[in-house]
Amino acid sequence: QAKQAGRNTHRTFQHDWHHQSSAQFELDAQLQGAAARGEFELHYQPLVDARTGTLRSFEALLRWHNPTLGAVSPAQFIPVAETRGLIVPIGEWVLRAACRQLRAWHAAGYTHARVSVNVSALQFALPDFVRSVEATLRTHGVPGHALAVELTESTLIQDLEASNAKLAALHALGVRTALDDFGTGYSSLSYLQRLHVNTLKIDRSFMQAIDGRGGALVRAITHLAHDLDLRVVVEGVETAQQLRTVQALGGDTVQGYHVSRPLPVAQAEAFLRAARPALEPWPDP
Ligand code: C2E
Ligand code: MG
Ligand code: MG
Ligand code: MG
Repeated sequence: QAKQAGRNTHRTFQHDWHHQSSAQFELDAQLQGAAARGEFELHYQPLVDARTGTLRSFEALLRWHNPTLGAVSPAQFIPVAETRGLIVPIGEWVLRAACRQLRAWHAAGYTHARVSVNVSALQFALPDFVRSVEATLRTHGVPGHALAVELTESTLIQDLEASNAKLAALHALGVRTALDDFGTGYSSLSYLQRLHVNTLKIDRSFMQAIDGRGGALVRAITHLAHDLDLRVVVEGVETAQQLRTVQALGGDTVQGYHVSRPLPVAQAEAFLRAARPALEPWPDP
């Protein structure tokens, strides 16, 4: 009986493994050329002032719709793209698409439109990364201050000196930089003073525990960041109660489903229209 059960378990495991690996294989195969087939789209999630709700910027988030696989989440395909090096051309596509959209928004009179893009470690590590950002901005006629890049701690600490040189070169172009998913790495606090970013994005796992220890951590990180002249974005604000807590803790910018999900262009424009740029200019860094 036990032997039988054991064999069944084993067979199930093997079946799952095979199933998973062929799914990975299919995903991998479909990912090649997805950009060329027009299967990618950027959605834009608003980041707003925690007190007034005024739009500060959007985060561009990649969406992939494949005829065979349907809609695939970036949590699934970005890690695959990273292992295969495909993330570099995909990242370049994202940068171009974001700049094209910024150009269109600026030309339509939304001169306050700003977008941040996520940049993977492999892309950031390219020696000519900053030059390619500069070239893409120039090609699309977009000022550097309209763009921000989001990088994770693990990306930046691979080579601290080289990273800071690139961050400085981005800042010289006016491009802002953010440390994404802050608090999920291993040595966040010790690196804070050594990584020259403009903004910290506190990972949404802290929001999920906001009424307990998460709240104390968000407060401490926010105060620390402000003392270091960093902006703070609190990610993953899903409820009005969470927003009130973030406001009470001194958070300056929020992003999350309570404000808005990531939106297609036409819907994102409603946020641009409501932002009244003449009354709420983007504050200097
Ligand atoms: P991220 O950069 O930390 O982006 C935030 C993620 O949290 C997004 O997931 C967003 O939809 C989700 N989110 C926002 N507000 C809430 C909320 O209130 N509750 C919950 N539960 N989730 C919320 P998404 O779009 O699925 O992207 C997942 C990750 O995939 C991103 O995390 C980023 O690491 C990566 N990614 C997405 N687009 C790109 C891209 O263009 N390039 C690269 N390299 N990575 C990307
Ligand atoms: Mg991000
Ligand atoms: Mg994030
Ligand atoms: Mg994240």
